Amino acid sequence: MDLQGKTAIITGASSGIGEATAKKLAEQGVNVVLCARRTEKLEELKDEITQSGGNALVVTADVTNKEDWNTVIENTQEHFNSIDILFNNAGLMPLSYVEKLKTDEWEKMVDVNLKGVLNGVAATLPIMQEQKSGHIINVSSSAGRKYFPGGAVYCATKAAVTMFSEGLRQEIAPEYGINVTLIEPGFVSTELQDTITDEDIKEQLGNMSDMTPLQANDIAQAVAYAAATPDHVNVNDVYIYPTQQK
Ligand code: NDP
Repeated sequence: MDLQGKTAIITGASSGIGEATAKKLAEQGVNVVLCARRTEKLEELKDEITQSGGNALVVTADVTNKEDWNTVIENTQEHFNSIDILFNNAGLMPLSYVEKLKTDEWEKMVDVNLKGVLNGVAATLPIMQEQKSGHIINVSSSAGRKYFPGGAVYCATKAAVTMFSEGLRQEIAPEYGINVTLIEPGFVSTELQDTITDEDIKEQLGNMSDMTPLQANDIAQAVAYAAATPDHVNVNDVYIYPTQQK
């Protein structure tokens, strides 16, 4: 399917997977709406995309804030008319062992990784239902399938996104022609680990194997593939690992 002229809202576009996906989709003629909290980074990305001939709009937004989502939707409709793709990607991963009871960080993970996804769906679904078309692409993780040390809460938020996405697909895809895709990456080299504050975990990760991780662009390519399949094809799930990851 030709993506030219489609419009995608991309959360977490200020770095990593979101940034790479914005560039990849913009290259394919998609109007990209860049959302995150760091406006300066989004403006830099917009300039890069625009200079390469693409169309981008910056909307500073915190995915946990429903008012911000209203602003995202209003601005997107004003500039580009339709909302064809929602890339629900924003996330954070402040790992720690449960016994440390870092409850503020637990709440942040639930708020951003899970509620942020739900907020995005709630904001865009009515528009896609009216259009009778659209594609919601949620980013979970291999962590949604497998626990890893320090990841009890992070893995729980990702498992929730995984199950929510399957429920969403079954409820809306057949009835409204809205596709739903889940992206489950293994280890990708991004800023995600910078959200870790726990010194023990930082040390453990520092000692991790010398495996070659995925790059953000590897995930962007998978997203672009899923987005470009014909309307009657729903890529349910992309589970993608570095070759050396067990
Ligand atoms: P990055 O840290 O590079 O990107 C995270 C993005 O989320 C940033 O753009 C950040 O922007 C945004 N973000 C965080 N909190 C909020 C918020 N409250 N509102 C809006 N945006 C927010 O990491 P990745 O690119 O790796 O992460 C993207 C997704 O991929 C996450 O959901 C992560 O869990 C998932 N993932 C990552 C893997 C990896 O190994 N890197 C593996 C599997 C899944 P800002 O700070 O400007 O708001």
